Amino acid sequence: MKYVSTRGAANLGQFSEVLLMGLAPDGGLAMPEHLPTFSPQELEDLRRLKYADLAFAVMRPFITDIPEADLRRLLHETYRPEVFHSPDITPVTPLGNSGLFLLELSNGPSLAFKDMAMQFLGQVFEYVLEQRDEYLNILGATSGDTGSAAEYAMLNKPRVNVFMLSPHGRMSAFQQAQMFSLQEPNIFNIAVEGVFDDCQDLVKAVNADAGFKATYRIGAVNSINWARVLAQAVYYFRAYFALDLPAGAEVDFCVPSGNFGNVFAGYLAKKMGLPVGQLVVASNENDVLHEFFSTGAYQVRPGERVAKTSSPSMDIGKASNFERYLYLIAGESGEQVAGWWQAVGRGEVVNLGGTPHWNAVQASGFVAGRSTHADRLRTIAHVDRQYGRLIDPHTADGVLVGQHFQRPGVPMVCLETALPAKFEETVLEAAGRRPERPERFRDIEQQGRHGVVLPNDVQALKTYIREQLEQKI
Ligand SMILES: *Cc1c(COP(=O)(O)O)cnc(C)c1O
Repeated sequence: MKYVSTRGAANLGQFSEVLLMGLAPDGGLAMPEHLPTFSPQELEDLRRLKYADLAFAVMRPFITDIPEADLRRLLHETYRPEVFHSPDITPVTPLGNSGLFLLELSNGPSLAFKDMAMQFLGQVFEYVLEQRDEYLNILGATSGDTGSAAEYAMLNKPRVNVFMLSPHGRMSAFQQAQMFSLQEPNIFNIAVEGVFDDCQDLVKAVNADAGFKATYRIGAVNSINWARVLAQAVYYFRAYFALDLPAGAEVDFCVPSGNFGNVFAGYLAKKMGLPVGQLVVASNENDVLHEFFSTGAYQVRPGERVAKTSSPSMDIGKASNFERYLYLIAGESGEQVAGWWQAVGRGEVVNLGGTPHWNAVQASGFVAGRSTHADRLRTIAHVDRQYGRLIDPHTADGVLVGQHFQRPGVPMVCLETALPAKFEETVLEAAGRRPERPERFRDIEQQGRHGVVLPNDVQALKTYIREQLEQKI
């Protein structure tokens, strides 16, 4: 399978190349040249597969440059019950008889859904780098969960260093402790004096310096990485089959969204032939996506206009993976997408309302909603009282918005994107009780802090990276 850029570059190479690439040279994102599909009969054959074998079946058509036996082994090493603390890897749990279901994606090492893809990334990075006898320095930005998921995935991966930027003081105490407690020779935590979008802009600025990028072998794990999107498509298939519906019956999914990576993976599954009905995008107060899907206007928010909310992993003013979606909406026209993104870059509104592209958006199955802090508190309390289950604030955004779009007789699967233990304070405020914390995280706040604080300045960041790498040699 060959990959192309959303902004028109015709050949980015195969999976292993785009895995290590980050942004494409033209600033776009990698997409497969075409989307393979499963026929209804082929889907039936996937129904009973164990998670790792299902992952192989879904991902194999996109990964043709790793020998079959090796890919299968990597996936079996990734999706193990001991790592995800469940024999099913991603169990589906009904919320009473409400027709709502939770797809549990957060039982892995960092207690958030990002482990689902990141654990695979750790395995496949080490594999590809070993094949090539290369090393990689991952530069990433996190508003919380990406950072810890990436760091836990890269522990004991000697060919990979992780430089992880996070907005100084803007994550929950538990999330900060998860990252900053790690003291590993290949993990570098950098707290940036700014918001998440500033961190993301710094990553982009470093990547825009081709010389620096090549000299220091800079790569990415943030949600623009194609391998992450692909790995996330698998659990939509798994959830669909877990519901054990008659062949062809539709299922709706509701996804707490920020960078649009998770819900885009659902769209990928749908495009591959899975009978997905609605894809419900749940936003918090930072509602650029909700605005687009209700009006057709896409306008990114600068960092200073991104609100700090109680579902911080969704505090995002521009959704990186949204470009992949618009690429498909534009009939895979890189030229069209490049035009839109030039306008977005100038701070303009891209308005698809009333254009033929808007018809394609409406036919794609996407709908959207938003929630506020008060909504989250009410939803957490309601789900606890009604179903005896604590959910985290992000998942609460999803359950609230998912409920709103429920259709009679169609299951609404809400993706559980983090465990409540990651956001104790909000859950306590909402439900009046403290969520249980897995034993391995019991005293994590007491384990010391390792990392630096840097200004929101690309030069300072480059200097820091250079110094650390020179010290290692
Ligand atoms: C990352 C994250 C999200 C948003 O996912 P995207 O793929 O960026 O849309 C939602 N909830 C939690 C808990 C997250 O960590």
